Amino acid sequence: MRIVVLAGGIGGARFLRGLKRAVPDADITVIGNTGDDIHLFGLKVCPDLDTVMYTLGGGINEEQGWGRTDETFHLKEELAAYGVGPEWFGLGDRDFATHIVRTQMLGAGFPLSAVTEALCDRWEPGVRLIPMTDDRVETHVAVTLPDSGSAAGSGERKAVHFQEYWVRLRASVPAEAVVPVGAEQAKPAPGVLEAIAEADVILFPPSNPVVSVGTILAVPGIREAIANAGVPVIGLSPIVGDAPVRGMADKVLAAVGVESTAPAVAEHYGSGLLDGWLVDTVDAGCVERVEAAGIRCRAVPLMMTDVDAAARMAREALALAEEVRAV
Ligand code: GDP
Ligand code: CA
Repeated sequence: MRIVVLAGGIGGARFLRGLKRAVPDADITVIGNTGDDIHLFGLKVCPDLDTVMYTLGGGINEEQGWGRTDETFHLKEELAAYGVGPEWFGLGDRDFATHIVRTQMLGAGFPLSAVTEALCDRWEPGVRLIPMTDDRVETHVAVTLPDSGSAAGSGERKAVHFQEYWVRLRASVPAEAVVPVGAEQAKPAPGVLEAIAEADVILFPPSNPVVSVGTILAVPGIREAIANAGVPVIGLSPIVGDAPVRGMADKVLAAVGVESTAPAVAEHYGSGLLDGWLVDTVDAGCVERVEAAGIRCRAVPLMMTDVDAAARMAREALALAEEVRAV
């Protein structure tokens, strides 16, 4: 079975670990979000690709859900001693090595997809991990920063990099708009459209619908390829009981005018894209609403408390795909 998964960071990676356990023989291609990518200290950092690679390759910091296990921060401290920041982005020594290798290879002319493949030679994630594009796409968030004092009137309105919004500001101010800068001109990376065309099933894991899955879908050609693939497209809700399970997805959902509920996210994707949607059992009451939108829906436990729980979710998603295929 050939499975294509559109993944962000933590939610995507943990689901993928379950999927691998549920169907060890499946051929899994992961299309990774690169809208979160950022240049720091002259290095290219790809947080979502690395979270998938480290999680599936056994190098992830489990509690945090991102970054390396057994990490130290000497390099960051030394940089800070020179007054070189940003200090709000936690890059550890082990993690730095990944970004150095990546930046070196990019500098030598390799596209990000080839670099990612080379990094995965070490981590052996057991899936084919492809960035959504080799072109530069950067998600920016329009915010009004709180008034710093003196003059009357509102604070300064500006666009900040997604990482600055998420990590430095901790989504503490409303996101007024979310823009994947560069997406319109981007081309899907080699292998992306081919994997979609050859897939037996396409899954949206419980990843952020706006800044993870939404960004991937913003690369011209990807949304159309999925909608026209003619195979079941099944999503799992990242919203449980009207709130994101972790993080601040509600803030970026509000920016695109979508309420933070499992059915609203399904409707946001729409029946043109989704054939099936899994909601958590606490949201069983919304199944009818989702089905009224033309999307087959089931309520099952959706908390990835451990790998087995994620594997059960993956089995439910594949079962729903077969149900959809049968009609
Ligand atoms: P990020 O790039 O690290 O933010 O990760 P993703 O975009 O892949 O996933 C973030 C989303 O995963 C958040 O909106 C969370 O609500 C969701 N999430 C995290 N853990 C769980 C879980 O155990 N169950 C469900 N249903 N969603 C989860
Ligand atoms: Ca992310």
